[in-house]
Amino acid sequence: MVMLYTPGPNNSMLAVSGANFGLQRTIPHLLGVSLGFGFMVFLVGLGAGQIMQTSPIVQRIMRLGGILFILWFAWKIASVPANKPGEDVNISSKAEKRNKPLTFIQATLFQWINGKAWMITASMEYPHRRYNPLTGEWVLVSPHRTKRPWQGKLEKPSAEKKPEFDAGCYLCPGNLRAGGKQNPPYAGIYIFENDFAALLKDLPEEDTPRSELFNALPVKGECRVICFSPKHNLTLPLMSLSEIGGVITAWQQQTAELSSRYKYVQVFENKGEMMGCSNPHPHGQIWAGDFIPTLVAQEDKMQREYFTRHSRPLLKDYAEQESAHGIRTVAENESWLAVVPYWAVWPYELLLLPKRHVPALPSLTPVESTHLAEVLKNILTRYDNLIQLSYPYSMGWHQALSGAEAYSGLHVHFYPPLLRSAEVKKFMVGYEMLAESQRDISPETAADTLRALSSVHYTGIA
Ligand SMILES: [Zn+2]
Ligand SMILES: [Zn+2]
Repeated sequence: MVMLYTPGPNNSMLAVSGANFGLQRTIPHLLGVSLGFGFMVFLVGLGAGQIMQTSPIVQRIMRLGGILFILWFAWKIASVPANKPGEDVNISSKAEKRNKPLTFIQATLFQWINGKAWMITASMEYPHRRYNPLTGEWVLVSPHRTKRPWQGKLEKPSAEKKPEFDAGCYLCPGNLRAGGKQNPPYAGIYIFENDFAALLKDLPEEDTPRSELFNALPVKGECRVICFSPKHNLTLPLMSLSEIGGVITAWQQQTAELSSRYKYVQVFENKGEMMGCSNPHPHGQIWAGDFIPTLVAQEDKMQREYFTRHSRPLLKDYAEQESAHGIRTVAENESWLAVVPYWAVWPYELLLLPKRHVPALPSLTPVESTHLAEVLKNILTRYDNLIQLSYPYSMGWHQALSGAEAYSGLHVHFYPPLLRSAEVKKFMVGYEMLAESQRDISPETAADTLRALSSVHYTGIA
């Protein structure tokens, strides 16, 4: 397990120690690594990384210390006696006296001469690029820029209290919609065909231009709106676990029904005025089409290629390594893991993954669905608590295409537009629009912030 990451000194040492002395006796070593490494991250935060990078003397001392330690470590591995045939597999008591597992103090101190640990922590403070294995794109990370004062436009958040029923809302039960149709007096979840659908079921037979420079394809599809609740003033984090469970069941049913007729079903939610959502009533959308959309095709390709190389699903490997590491984890339960992904573009972006390889929403077990409701409520509550207001975002499920079930994993992306407060929005302009996505705070810092928040909603309502 400890070798899942890069084979750095800590992981190699933990693996050797675990194999030689067993897990229980390696625990002090493991704790020492955690404490030593954690303290180092703290010092780098205070500017130690800068001293390291600019002082040649410090670098030379560290290099020498590292060489000496690795030599001592090599001797320690080499001096473990080989078991003679017929001998008990346990290390003999004489040899055990010479080869003790690393103590807590030794492991803590080792972090100070472990060059790799220094490089990992220091690199978080300086501009670097991170690779997104799901899309094949890179993101520029510039954590040193967060000290920059904000001088841009302030957007006033809407903080007024909303009523449970709004006569002017086209999604509330019984109300007339903009297209002239009337909603039934629904009590739970209500799904209807979008009155202004971007995709249409029936198209006239018409030729579209097909040439290298002028290329178009006709598409067919359906767009549906799903009201999560009849109550106008609720949002997913304010709903009960069983109400969120009802939404999950509806997502599953819709996916199952529409994927029997269409190539791809996109389940998503746009929340908040900042995301261009015109109606605060809790609702999401489901678009199904007879084509594979660009981003979905790209993630499918990347996951297929990873599976060809490793015979394992990319996202299952990623979830295992993130869960073991924990540095970007925001919430976790038996079945799910929510992380600020290593390659996150949006400041407080989240990726929610099942721990088992699950291709699509209908394949979730009832227990996994229950755990999903819990983790959704948990992370969305943390989002609201971050700004003490209803947190805006665009979220959406990515599911395996037909035939891709072995390698393509179910997951959900959360892309919130906010940067440093309820009023400061991140814009994807300039360099991002023309060259490459860029972020200021590191994903690790964002995960720290979200993890430190309460999982109880600030309003005390839910
Ligand atoms: Zn409403
Ligand atoms: Zn995705």
